[in-house]
Amino acid sequence: MDFLFLFLCYLALMLIGVVVICFCSKSHSLKGLVWGGAKLFSYIIPECLQRAIQRLLHYFLHTRNYTFIILHLILQGMVYAEYTWEIFGFCQELEFSLYYLLLPYLLLFVNLCFFALSCITNPGTITKTNELLLLQVYEFDEVMFLKNTRCPTCDLRKPARSKHCRVCNWCVHRFDHHCVWVNNCIGAWNARYFLIYLLTLTASAASVASVSATFLVQLVFLSDLHLETYIDDLGHTQVVDITFLIQYLFLTFPRIVFMLGFVLILSFLLGGYLCFVLYLATTNQTTNEWYRGDWAQCQHYLHTAGPLSPERQVYQNIYSRGICGNLGEIFLPTAHYEKKKN
Ligand SMILES: [Zn+2]
Ligand SMILES: [Zn+2]
Repeated sequence: MDFLFLFLCYLALMLIGVVVICFCSKSHSLKGLVWGGAKLFSYIIPECLQRAIQRLLHYFLHTRNYTFIILHLILQGMVYAEYTWEIFGFCQELEFSLYYLLLPYLLLFVNLCFFALSCITNPGTITKTNELLLLQVYEFDEVMFLKNTRCPTCDLRKPARSKHCRVCNWCVHRFDHHCVWVNNCIGAWNARYFLIYLLTLTASAASVASVSATFLVQLVFLSDLHLETYIDDLGHTQVVDITFLIQYLFLTFPRIVFMLGFVLILSFLLGGYLCFVLYLATTNQTTNEWYRGDWAQCQHYLHTAGPLSPERQVYQNIYSRGICGNLGEIFLPTAHYEKKKN
């Protein structure tokens, strides 16, 4: 009881935490929360340690480095090592379909290819050579993207939907976000690779979770474990229930159950993020635009004279061209420019 209860609490807290962060990040509540937390910690942690933590965080999150790529590969390697070492062999003995068992490897192969492409592909850096062409690709909405603005660092005119990445120190066309896991910006030219990478990563985590869970369930049914009884702490005979089964499996196959918990949480988190990315893709918004939407609107109103009418309070996304057009823009970005040029 204790183990399952604590595990479910941990799972629920993690999911609630992620949902709260997603909602708060759209408003200014998160900034206040982070600022309040940082202030509280500043009283507890010595100043020299605070500076060391700040330097470390700055290195990991605000400079280009391979830490998260290595961490990504280590975690993926550990999951697949456990899958190959224990689950694959056990499942073969239980005569699972070979296609079902090989599916996680196929997904891993495709995932690694798109992971590499997301890492090494130019996200759409704006240079003196392509500046003029990229300026013509998107209209300026004059709310979030104003005409004739220059990037003070690159000294180039900023095309609509572009943004200067402070980590990579370059302006990116159709900037989405800087991803520490691929150590690269996600922009117009690699958004398609990132989307497929995320899709296959979610599918590979879900497929490993599915095989592992099926294996454990089959094991319980084959050994008739669910029909057994046990003596509880008070000496009473009890019928085996789900809590007992999970505890029993955890003690018998600790690595498999631990890995299953990890890939299950990962599948839910990645699945949620994938839904968000697909929502942005089908509505033709970048993460940067989704995040800045309210802020840009406020700035626009501050600079606009006259009373605010209800119509003007709604931020208009002028780039959407229908679901197929929006997805086409992500998967064939250069075809979109050619059409604009003609
Ligand atoms: Zn720039
Ligand atoms: Zn970047």
